[in-house]
Amino acid sequence: TKHVPFSSPFLRDCGYINGEWTRGEATKTFDVLNPATGEVLASLPDMGAADTRKSIDAAYAAQPAWAARPARERSAILRKWFDLMVANADELAAILTAEMGKPFPEARGEILYAAAYIEWYAEEAKRIYGETIPAPSNDKRMIVIKQPVGVVGTITPWNFPAAMITRKIAPALAVGCTVVSKPAEQTPLSAIALAVLAEQAGIPAGVFNVIVGEDGPAIGKELCSNDKVRKISFTGSTEVGRILMRQCADQIKKVSLELGGNAPFIVFDDADLDAAVEGAIASKYRNAGQTCVCANRLYVQSGVYDAFAAKLAAKVESMSVGDGFEAGVTIGPLIDAQGLAKVEDHVSDALSKGARVLTGGKRIEGAGTFFTPTVLTGVARGMKVAREETFGPVAPLFRFETVEEVIEQANDTEFGLAAYFFAGDLKKVWKVAEALEYGMVGINTGLMSTETAPFGGVKQSGQGREGSRHGVDDYLEMKYLCIGNL
Ligand code: ADP
Repeated sequence: TKHVPFSSPFLRDCGYINGEWTRGEATKTFDVLNPATGEVLASLPDMGAADTRKSIDAAYAAQPAWAARPARERSAILRKWFDLMVANADELAAILTAEMGKPFPEARGEILYAAAYIEWYAEEAKRIYGETIPAPSNDKRMIVIKQPVGVVGTITPWNFPAAMITRKIAPALAVGCTVVSKPAEQTPLSAIALAVLAEQAGIPAGVFNVIVGEDGPAIGKELCSNDKVRKISFTGSTEVGRILMRQCADQIKKVSLELGGNAPFIVFDDADLDAAVEGAIASKYRNAGQTCVCANRLYVQSGVYDAFAAKLAAKVESMSVGDGFEAGVTIGPLIDAQGLAKVEDHVSDALSKGARVLTGGKRIEGAGTFFTPTVLTGVARGMKVAREETFGPVAPLFRFETVEEVIEQANDTEFGLAAYFFAGDLKKVWKVAEALEYGMVGINTGLMSTETAPFGGVKQSGQGREGSRHGVDDYLEMKYLCIGNL
């Protein structure tokens, strides 16, 4: 592979431990690739358990002083970090597109979205209210205070290299926790850039540490087994979430988990069809289908099935696939060869069981891991696309007849992150919204993520919520104070 180092004032070829840029105890390096070209962008020290332990010690030492600072001081530092991200959004977006592949305008959107969590929690930092409770007898007074849980370990995926990190770090730092952050091995450069700006913003040494390394299991094991870490916050696959939860059981460590989804996207006969197509494009093809809230199964009522399929295919055919730095590109590469192989496997499995390709259906030969945006019709229950998260630009269209039938099918999965539906009748809207077993439901919209709303899943899609005023709860303990003998 060709080595084309990516340069930016916001990059270091190091991890960040206790306020220092360091290669730690790494004895080898790992490469960060550009998925659009296959070129090597950077070689980073491959840090492991020893450096993770050092970071934990640093975070542990820094935590009391950070928590003791008045909330408005933590708030002001976070606000500064937000301002720096916004001021340097183009530079950060370029790093993100280079290592992850999403089109540059989408990357810029992610940077602003990521920054918005920091702004929001800079504001929320000042609003960590407790409560007073009327006592059952006159000689007592009862109070609840909220305190930071302590050191938090975060493990994040590659599909939102910036936003998945700020969504955890911002509420954690806002309430007085300190953090050891392990970004995905495919996309550590965005995390490094965020840490460079955090340092410039005045976040003290030890409060925010970044471990870069290829061995997720080793780093994760140290985070889960080190008793100085009080909480693990993870976004990624359900499979790894299960491992982490199991590892945290020994110390009853708190866990927040944002795991896989298998989002249904339902179009009823009375839907505004053009709006439903727009919604499907936004929900399905954003980030080339690589988000945990991407529509995975599209259920279309029989009266509009053919019309919806035709309109969707026409839109999909007008999408432009390519390097995210090229103007006009709307679909970038898949993250890596493994991601591409999974998408191919899902499509060929569906075709072998009777589905048909309306458009797309193939990988694009040459450098980079590209797959043509695809619409499949004639899709049925026994296919992999019905059960597993495809994580690619493939829309499988299922046909259904009744409301009851589609609710049953939509809920027939172990996942429960996001669901979407398009309908007109208000009575049906309420019925379906309440019946869907999901943490988030988009009604007549394909886009609902915002820092102001609680993001999270039910069932095997996870626990805890990120964003909104509820997002701080995952990083706070409540303490009940009972004053007697008054
Ligand atoms: P994805 O399929 O999106 O890559 P993963 O769940 O495999 O999702 O990865 C998400 C994050 O979890 C990455 O940072 C990865 O390095 C990390 N990871 C993978 N396996 C483990 C593990 N056993 N323990 C801790 N972290 C892990």
